[in-house]
Amino acid sequence: MAENGLTSFSYHIDADETGAAASLAGPAAFAGPLAASGAASLDAETAARAYLVQGLASAAMPRFAVDSEIEQDVDFRIIGTETVPLTKTQTVKFRQHFNKIPIYGSLVTVELDQQNGLVSMNSALGTPEGVDPMAQIAPANVVEKVCDTAGLNQLPAESLPRLYFYFDQTVDSWRLAYIAENVPEAPHGEADGTGAEADGAHGAPLPELFDYIVDAHSGEIVARLPRVASVEIRSAEEPDVLGRPRRITAIALDAGGLRLHDPEFNVYTHDADFADVQPFGALPGPYCVNPPAWLPAAISAHANGTEVARFVRDVLMRNGIDNRGGAYVATINCLWGVSPSREWRNAAWYRDQMIYGQRFQNGQLLSYAAALDVVAHEIFHGITDRTARLEYAGETGALNESYSDIFGIIVSNISEPNLAAWNWEMGEELTSTGIPIRDFRDPRRRNQPDHMDEFVRIPSPYHQGNDYGGVHINSGIHNKAAYNILNSQDHETYLFQPAEVTQIFYLALSQSLSRTATFADSHRAVMSAARSLFRADPKRSLKVAAVAEAFEAVGIVEAVA
Ligand SMILES: [Zn+2]
Repeated sequence: MAENGLTSFSYHIDADETGAAASLAGPAAFAGPLAASGAASLDAETAARAYLVQGLASAAMPRFAVDSEIEQDVDFRIIGTETVPLTKTQTVKFRQHFNKIPIYGSLVTVELDQQNGLVSMNSALGTPEGVDPMAQIAPANVVEKVCDTAGLNQLPAESLPRLYFYFDQTVDSWRLAYIAENVPEAPHGEADGTGAEADGAHGAPLPELFDYIVDAHSGEIVARLPRVASVEIRSAEEPDVLGRPRRITAIALDAGGLRLHDPEFNVYTHDADFADVQPFGALPGPYCVNPPAWLPAAISAHANGTEVARFVRDVLMRNGIDNRGGAYVATINCLWGVSPSREWRNAAWYRDQMIYGQRFQNGQLLSYAAALDVVAHEIFHGITDRTARLEYAGETGALNESYSDIFGIIVSNISEPNLAAWNWEMGEELTSTGIPIRDFRDPRRRNQPDHMDEFVRIPSPYHQGNDYGGVHINSGIHNKAAYNILNSQDHETYLFQPAEVTQIFYLALSQSLSRTATFADSHRAVMSAARSLFRADPKRSLKVAAVAEAFEAVGIVEAVA
């Protein structure tokens, strides 16, 4: 038995004959009735369970065994089945239960080939003898105790305590214990009391998470374990809000089940469950978990967030929104204030994360996370916050909006190599009529100007009631300039790769623009970025001239440096 109270064992069908596993048990241990009945005709879980039972019964594998004293009260429950592409095998995982209570840290992994033949078996088993399996403390008392210690009013649903046999290394013995997972601790430091300011950048630190272990007989808090990111990941195709299959990556939780966290791209998706997200501490809300099932809105938010994260990494070569490897955090099912209908027609970048509302469409609530261009738009507000930090009012605010629109339209079309086939509409999935929120090719279609001659001047003061001075109106002019660049042609072929256009706007935003930049500043900054980016490109002068032409076509003249 190791320090964790468990006995581990490893068996591999292809182990070298001199290896330890082969000396413990050869393939002969599994040549019994299962092989004769034809494992290939069984499902993987049934075959894996048969190997598990045979292995336990085999005298050739003494370390893979359940103590005969407790044998009659032990059972193994399936945690999940997973395809492993690298090895072209499938694994079935089991957790050991004793008196119907899971044993913390126990695991049996049975690996199968494509005919359900046994490839390997790895196990960690426990023997929690002499522990009364009846809890003396009620779960409600555990919740109260954990809340008191963590400084919380209530526990998130995912943290509700569950009973385990837990091996306490400090006293070298088993306990019956409640475990409350991922209990947040109120963040330290100043609370931000300025409240609801969409598009604001008041960075609220994310709460730290702990697992609490509480003895089920004495009520004593046995341990408080900080959580670190797990690396056991699952990837699968799941339907999104629009019914399309989307590939998402989640992590497997120690207690079973999955959580929407993609560790490669550092994307986290949470569910506010139609709570008001304004109060401090309401965000990011509980993680999206499965079981019971993935919500299509969660799949949309997670898959779209990951696509944006991939674009930021591969096209912009930026390390996350903050360029320091920080997480992409999103919350679905948000409300702003109280709404009995559960409708909140918005999506926003707020307190360093994305929040998504929902609207009725054909009698059903449709999440704003459905639209990749909208998701990218919000995430790029975050990148703007971390770079130029453009003000969100007047012409500068319209520039802020336009930069988000430009990246949104490019991210959502980047997988289409033929520019002539691009979809220039934004957010069309989200309206009941299918009429887009904005049209990049033809801003006037959505009541936006497409030339400086029609710039809408709104007198200050700027506030939400006048769209902060028309930030969603005048953005059409700058959007049209970007459209012109993307569509610039040289001898009837497109002059720019879409990635190049993304890069010059990104360089302008991150290197040249400041908090009060105007459209003309953007013209100059994008020209400067083009000169740098294309400095070894034989078409450099053509490309720089095309940028100038694109801005001039909408009446944005270069600011004098
Ligand atoms: Zn916006």
